[in-house]
Amino acid sequence: MFDARGCLNHIKPYIPGKPIEEVEKELGIRNIIKMASNENPLGPSGKAIEAIARGVCKVNIYPDANGFYLKDALAKQLHINRNNIILGNGSEQLIGMITKTFVNPGDEVVMAHPSFSVYTTATQIMSGIPVQVPLDQNYCHDLTAILNAITNKTKIVFICNPNNPTGTIVSRRELDNFMNRIPSDILVVLDEAYFEYVDEQDKADGIYYVLEGKNVVVLRTFSKIYGLAGLRIGYGIAHEKIINTISKVKEVFNVNSLAQAAALASINDPEYVERSIETNRRGKEYLCQEFKKLGLKYIPTQTNFILVDIGMDCQKAYREMMKNGIIVRPGDIFGYPTFLRVSIGRPEENLEFIEMLEYVIENNDN
Ligand SMILES: *Cc1c(COP(=O)(O)O)cnc(C)c1O
Repeated sequence: MFDARGCLNHIKPYIPGKPIEEVEKELGIRNIIKMASNENPLGPSGKAIEAIARGVCKVNIYPDANGFYLKDALAKQLHINRNNIILGNGSEQLIGMITKTFVNPGDEVVMAHPSFSVYTTATQIMSGIPVQVPLDQNYCHDLTAILNAITNKTKIVFICNPNNPTGTIVSRRELDNFMNRIPSDILVVLDEAYFEYVDEQDKADGIYYVLEGKNVVVLRTFSKIYGLAGLRIGYGIAHEKIINTISKVKEVFNVNSLAQAAALASINDPEYVERSIETNRRGKEYLCQEFKKLGLKYIPTQTNFILVDIGMDCQKAYREMMKNGIIVRPGDIFGYPTFLRVSIGRPEENLEFIEMLEYVIENNDN
């Protein structure tokens, strides 16, 4: 067989999970609770559903390649210019577009570890070298170590704020300090997929650095708080020059028309966003309180998921929970073999998860 590009040898193939319906069939159960991918447990906004229904009969027409109405709405909401925005088929696609635009073979890309794994693969696909800097002992970005990891080959630094899978944040003060110290020829990508969930009063907002003229791309998504993960839509915010450069690698019709319509409708449904934040806040409170009762250590989170140390083999707990209809994320894939990452659900889902967790821990005989 002919050879693939050498850089692909470094990439572990992504093993996709089975569809929920298939797992249900195999286990002979129904109503599986999925708390594994940080989706919005309320379903999409009603306004988004209506917009999708209206858009369905026009799918014979290509989508708007430039996302005119959506960019307009985002520009108004964020007090920026439409030329500072680029849309992606999920922010995951934007991460790939950024590495495609800037990473030459051998260039280094610095990121925390554990963090969002897409930064690593997107770098490797371009024959770049991922440089992973361990989180500090509080599971937070170690910005000093990240600055120290920068060499003359460094092209990009990814900061996942809040961080997936730990739910920890970089504070505004810490980020200010970091941005003042980072060499200006390095692109900083601030991935703010969980921005809306952060309940810190004085939270860091990447757009501030864009407006300051810094070499920054801010990434946000409609997959989490806006409940549109299945439609695939996210956006990047940066200086117009950076946006225009990244646009060179953009597929013309990368964001489908239903995603654009649903995103626009969701922005115009602040009540849904409020309800999502409130549901998450209460779910977080409940889960943390129950973890405390069970004597389990967890990492305080600023997101819609929590990493909890269950004091037993996470794979065993994961499989046991799955058999009983609750899907969570085992921590060993992040380097935490006794942790689970659980997405915060609706009250009844959180309750079932806690009951199941208690059962699994009690019945763990080693
Ligand atoms: C979920 C998530 C995203 C969003 O990905 P989409 O492609 O927009 O669905 C981006 N970054 C992080 C850290 C995430 O957890």
